[in-house]
Amino acid sequence: MTRTVYVNGEYLPETEAKVSIFDRGFLMADAVYEVTSVLDGKLIDFDGHAVRLKRSLDELEMAEPCSQQELLEIHRKLVDLNGIVAGLVYLQVTRGSDGDRDFVFPAADTPPSLVLFTQSKPSLADSPESKRGAKIISIEDIRWGRRDIKTGQLLYPSMGKMMAKKAGCDDAWMIEDGYVTEGTSNNAYFVKNGKIVTRPLSNDILHGITRKAVLRLAQEAQMEVEERLFTIDEAKTADEAFTTSASAFVMPVVEIDGATLGDGTPGPIARRLREIYLDEARKTAI
Ligand code: PLP
Repeated sequence: MTRTVYVNGEYLPETEAKVSIFDRGFLMADAVYEVTSVLDGKLIDFDGHAVRLKRSLDELEMAEPCSQQELLEIHRKLVDLNGIVAGLVYLQVTRGSDGDRDFVFPAADTPPSLVLFTQSKPSLADSPESKRGAKIISIEDIRWGRRDIKTGQLLYPSMGKMMAKKAGCDDAWMIEDGYVTEGTSNNAYFVKNGKIVTRPLSNDILHGITRKAVLRLAQEAQMEVEERLFTIDEAKTADEAFTTSASAFVMPVVEIDGATLGDGTPGPIARRLREIYLDEARKTAI
């Protein structure tokens, strides 16, 4: 089925949507993006994603393509037009194009490009991976130093995911200066003696929208949370581990670098957090 997508003010069949070959998103990954989940036809934590998008744009001195209210309307219309019950809305803003390639940014009044499309994923909240738990490898983190900005520079995370697949695993956690930063497309946690440990926010990791919600819900459920640097060896010898992201919610981790965690099945804290998070997400979706 041909999707209807949004490009710079127009709703079009995906086969007719076009962006210039000079667009800086295409030539230089000069772009930021957001991925918002849809459950029961409604958007999960839309405000959180809109606020982070604004922050990414501000950090890169990129113009806002439209208001938050207009963005919400575009999201809702695409969900509606494409009949999405469960899935994702991908949004990308680029610095646009002034019709040529140059390292220097185009004039400040060059219109940004705004592209959105949907991905239908009927089993989003019920994926087989969430039931069996993910297997993780560790790799070096060689990304740039502003990982708090959600840019379109995803080549190394994609390579990390491929390294994991080649090793018969699901995903990779990245390590810098001896400490785990995050997963290729998620934030990373381990649990030891009931305490949830995750890296504190800084420019080294993406400030996950799901991370924020899950840490708040964990505290409300009287779970102990510690934000500190941690090593892969601590995670390998933990009772359990998990990741969080808008597209996979809370994903249990059952193996790290070949070491089995607990009994090799999703741990009780990860399972509980997934349940609490999904429950709250559905209740507050708009
Ligand atoms: N870290 C990285 C590198 C990511 O790419 C993502 C999501 O794409 C996350 C963390 C999780 O962020 P969120 O919960 O907002 O999806």
